[in-house]
Amino acid sequence: MHFFSHKKGELYAEDVPVKELINKFGTPLYIYSYGTLIRHIRAYEEAFCEVPHIICYAVKANSNLAILRIFAELGIGADIVSGGELFKALKAGIKPYKIVFAGVGKTDEEIEYALKNNILMFNVESEAELHKINEKAKNLKKVASVALRVNPDIDPKTHKYIATGLKSSKFGIPIEKALDYYKLAKSMKNIKVIGIHKHIGSQITETSAYVEALNKILSLYDQLANYDMEIEYIDIGGGLGITYRDEEPPHPKELADVLIPLVKNKKGKLIIEPGRSIVGNAGILVTKVLYTKETEQKNFIIVDAGMNDLIRPTLYGSYHEIQPVTPGKKEKIVADIVGPICESGDFLAKDREIEKVSAGEYLAVMSAGAYGFSMSSNYNSRPRVAEVLVKGDQYALIRKRETYKDLIRNEIVPEELL
Ligand SMILES: *Cc1c(COP(=O)(O)O)cnc(C)c1O
Repeated sequence: MHFFSHKKGELYAEDVPVKELINKFGTPLYIYSYGTLIRHIRAYEEAFCEVPHIICYAVKANSNLAILRIFAELGIGADIVSGGELFKALKAGIKPYKIVFAGVGKTDEEIEYALKNNILMFNVESEAELHKINEKAKNLKKVASVALRVNPDIDPKTHKYIATGLKSSKFGIPIEKALDYYKLAKSMKNIKVIGIHKHIGSQITETSAYVEALNKILSLYDQLANYDMEIEYIDIGGGLGITYRDEEPPHPKELADVLIPLVKNKKGKLIIEPGRSIVGNAGILVTKVLYTKETEQKNFIIVDAGMNDLIRPTLYGSYHEIQPVTPGKKEKIVADIVGPICESGDFLAKDREIEKVSAGEYLAVMSAGAYGFSMSSNYNSRPRVAEVLVKGDQYALIRKRETYKDLIRNEIVPEELL
């Protein structure tokens, strides 16, 4: 079942006509489906139910407080990469003992903040960070629980900007060095080694890379036992892909089916950090056609959403399906669907076959729930857009559209210098 589908000739979000939401909240507008979010969480829970596990949702994919709150209610944990994400996760009610903290550049303040809140563990990405966490924990008279993020040197066959487990990547500790660093960690007074972590990339569409990477970290896991290090948490990261166009990514169940046999006899609890596969297909971005324009070379459909609202096409060359909110025109054209931003890289789609829409009509950019709003900016002094959550025939605003005033809220004109 699809929660975004055409009924009676127009696009619905669950049981609400998208047009009704547009009339009420304007465009551009992110719309999320509660039913889809719940279904995706359940799919993971059911897939991995055979083994002890924690699902730590990757907050960076979509960090709206209302969405985090839905996950908190379901008892889901969080994978965070900043102090701000920790703040939001805690605010939403996610339990600190289900929060894991990754990232190559944790600051002193972020480390202290996480220590004070007793998160489950730091996923440590370098030797220097290990020393830093030990020192900070000592100052606070605490013991920091850590996993080392191991870089297993695996090619996840995805876009190079979202591959994170290759030797050349800035992430994690090279697997050959891992044993030495584990020994070092064990020798530190204010560090407790409890886990092993890897995350090899995003939008992964084959299970083989997961199997290969997990096997690599499990051989390290076995080695660690010989050094009297008992690993309680095996954190396999996130990265499962979704269908944007014609990809056929594995269902969480298929992933579980190949991974569970590998960990079944290990003592450690599994941690899974899905982001995109939870929220990606749970959201759309609705935009209004402002103008159409034909040049000798191209047709352009100029819309009111730009790369500041959804940067994925610009940043990764990503494909998003785009469909009219009220389809039905026979004539099709091939067009670039572009935003109002003053950059040639500002596009939502290139050379796309689409119904011949006119100014004033609306388009839905599908599968925009992950790395959509969370990557948005105010570039071109554009207020960030509103977000709405739909549940059945009910809906609620979960983020107000910014105003011009919001744009200058933190800016200061130093009269004394002018
Ligand atoms: C981004 C990230 C994830 C989530 O990746 P998805 O592709 O959105 O599932 C999980 N773990 C870590 C450490 C990450 O950086």
